[in-house]
Amino acid sequence: MMRSLLAALAAIVVLSPVPSIAQRLPTIVVPDHYDLAFRVDLRHNRFEGTETIRVHASQSTSKVVLNALEIEFQQVTIGTGAAAQPARVTLDEATQTATLSMPKPIDRGQTEIHIRYSGVLNDQLRGFYVSKGRTRSYAVTQCESTAARRAFPCFDEPSFKATFAVTLTIDRGDTAISNGKVLSDAPGPLPTQHTLKFATTPRMSTYLVAMVVGDFQCLDATADSVPIRICATADKKHLGRIALESAQQILRFYNRYFAIKYPFGKLDVVAVPDFAAGAMENTAAIFYREADLLADSKSASVDTRKTIASVLAHEMAHQWFGDLVTMAWWDDIWLNEGFATWMANKPLAAAHADWNVAVDESAETQRALGVDSLKSTRPIHADVSAPAEIDEAFDAIAYEKGAAVLRMIEHYVGADAFRDGINAYLEAHAYQNATSEDFWKAIASSSGKPLERILPTFVNQPGVPLIEVSDLACDAGRSQTRATFAQSRFLLDSRDPAPGRWQIPVCVAGPRDSSASCHLLTEPRQTVTVASGCASWIFANAGARGYYRTAYAPAMLRAMAPHIEGELAAAERLSLVDDEWALVRAGRHSVADYLTLVTAYRSEHASLVLQDIADRLAYIHDYLTPPDQSQRLEAFVRSLFRPLMDELGFTPAASDADDRRALRAAALSALGTTGNDPEVIAKARAAFDRSLAPGATLEPSLAEAMTAVAAGHGDAKLFDALVAAADRASVPQERYRSLSALAKFQDAALIERGLQLVLTPQIRSQDAALYLRGFFANPVARLRAWTFVKANWTALTPKIAVFGGDTGLVSALGSFCDAPARDDTKSFFAAHPLPAATRTLDQTIERIDNCIALRESQTAVVGAWLNGSR
Ligand SMILES: [Zn+2]
Repeated sequence: MMRSLLAALAAIVVLSPVPSIAQRLPTIVVPDHYDLAFRVDLRHNRFEGTETIRVHASQSTSKVVLNALEIEFQQVTIGTGAAAQPARVTLDEATQTATLSMPKPIDRGQTEIHIRYSGVLNDQLRGFYVSKGRTRSYAVTQCESTAARRAFPCFDEPSFKATFAVTLTIDRGDTAISNGKVLSDAPGPLPTQHTLKFATTPRMSTYLVAMVVGDFQCLDATADSVPIRICATADKKHLGRIALESAQQILRFYNRYFAIKYPFGKLDVVAVPDFAAGAMENTAAIFYREADLLADSKSASVDTRKTIASVLAHEMAHQWFGDLVTMAWWDDIWLNEGFATWMANKPLAAAHADWNVAVDESAETQRALGVDSLKSTRPIHADVSAPAEIDEAFDAIAYEKGAAVLRMIEHYVGADAFRDGINAYLEAHAYQNATSEDFWKAIASSSGKPLERILPTFVNQPGVPLIEVSDLACDAGRSQTRATFAQSRFLLDSRDPAPGRWQIPVCVAGPRDSSASCHLLTEPRQTVTVASGCASWIFANAGARGYYRTAYAPAMLRAMAPHIEGELAAAERLSLVDDEWALVRAGRHSVADYLTLVTAYRSEHASLVLQDIADRLAYIHDYLTPPDQSQRLEAFVRSLFRPLMDELGFTPAASDADDRRALRAAALSALGTTGNDPEVIAKARAAFDRSLAPGATLEPSLAEAMTAVAAGHGDAKLFDALVAAADRASVPQERYRSLSALAKFQDAALIERGLQLVLTPQIRSQDAALYLRGFFANPVARLRAWTFVKANWTALTPKIAVFGGDTGLVSALGSFCDAPARDDTKSFFAAHPLPAATRTLDQTIERIDNCIALRESQTAVVGAWLNGSR
């Protein structure tokens, strides 16, 4: 699954005190095959189901326990022919199970369970649900993690793999898409209906079963003879072209990387109007929210193209990592999400050199390190049991940390040995399940490296190591340089140290004339030869591929500073400056150290590195700058970024590479917000006003930055124009750009109007938490937004309590930086618990506490630095 984009950017997450009932099914009776027939009634939001499950009993039993929720059982029989007998159904809502009890025990061996039932097409965006378009509604499934049981009674755990044969009876004017290809399509049984039979799936888990019903239309193509379709509601079909081309390239890439070629025959990708996650990797039938799949080829920005390719590459990687080989239980969800996140970067890097994917990877690692520096983090492999705990495990630890650890290991053992291990792992467990141990055994065997010792230290224990580099020294003959590495657990709150010892592959880069080398750090403190020749500095995270923070002795950092722009790669520059920021937040370095380091990035030309620095400067501006010094900080930001803006100009040249376009947008955004640059602000507003003329548009690569900057200094006229633009937008990106800008205003009345909008159908459930997050990011709107959320909690809850909404909202509250707001947040959620955001709440509180401590210790430091330097 791909979390929706904004949630992914801020996902935060832990070992929670949620009381969890043991919810695992017994294993006496297990399924082999499901025949599933549905009659879908979109007029009354209902469905009727007829189900036959072929099961195997390992011993004689008079009870079968399976999962079912919000299902109305009508008739259940067990057995075939003369042996068929009715079963009594006992429902247990707490464990989401149905127990079928028979008068006579069934024998060991094969038998069949027949169930007739009915259900409601719900509005909770999970199970079998109604999705509402502008003029009609659609029936859609979202079964991950534990919602297949809401669509049909089943053994709803990932290790109960079975085959599925789906039949759908639907309105005559509609079509349907499922995991298998359509085998037959016949009129009836009613004159207004037709019935589609889909091919039996390969063995797979219940959470991957997929059905969608409506008047969808598709663009189609093939890649390596596999038919690919990009489908959408009829009015949006033409917006699938970018995705169709991407999907072809990605499939061809994966078919060359993996020893097992795409195994599922066809691939359908469907955008639906209401979808809680970003996308879902249902076997051969990937479902999507519209904004992540559909865009206009002519007006799509680099970011939009990248998002479409990246989410597709993620979901398509799942066809191998997740669909073909599935984690045995949700405690190893990283085997799905970490692997898909890691893999997705490869086809993008192969097709788009100017996307600088290595910097995206470095940024991905930084997101994981951010969460993993909290006490309330969790290990990659963590026990989960209740559905809410399972949902909350789709976090930055499963996705970004999982991916970062894989990148580190791949770099350490070499890409070829790693790929051999991956292929051996996939071949050994195809159509079955696997565990973390299975994975590291496969890589250990393909590489000959001690992965069974290395990986458990990253997978089974929480947190991130800090490597302190010191005692850089040359030997007498100046032929070798040695350094001492010390490891400890890195925590933002360093008052309360926690134990931790890792086996860390550390790869070192240095001045151009020295050679890089990798070492396995196993001891708390180790002295190693790091370079040939006599180096005055080293960079202890070559390629930014390591999963650790690094701290250099001050003399080494001074020696490195003049070489940062010239000799470190962009991914390494990002890692260096973000590590420095983390050391500030942990109270090990001062903000003055950070600001001084940042001045070495004056000529930074990688957009994501610039963006990262701009975000930190915005944080320093909003939280750590004494009010009477804000103008000096703004001037510092202008002095950093204005020369770059002048070099780039406001208008892209046709020859500009994608990253240059993204760089221009990042510089414009930094200058127009934190830099408070009057010229940039005026230009943004003028460009926006011009774009309102009939037929006019904003330059695609600058549209988002221009709109946001204009809104940040905007009036009621601009607010109305944005609401109108959102309303008439025919492409999803335009709608979201306009809506998210509503959170940027400074005027109290406009902020209030923006907040009220979330209560209207204008803002769908899938977007509500993401929309509100914007207001929490705006210092002027933050407290107002919180007051609004509390006052309207009853009305908001159904819109927030969808997948990713609860964690998205709770993590947004981490933007507070004072004790009263922290205490209020705690007491509000004590009274109004969100079970799937329990750990997220702990992390939010920890972030607020960290900010309070930082504000106390660093505000005077920032003031003094600004006074001294400007
Ligand atoms: Zn995923």
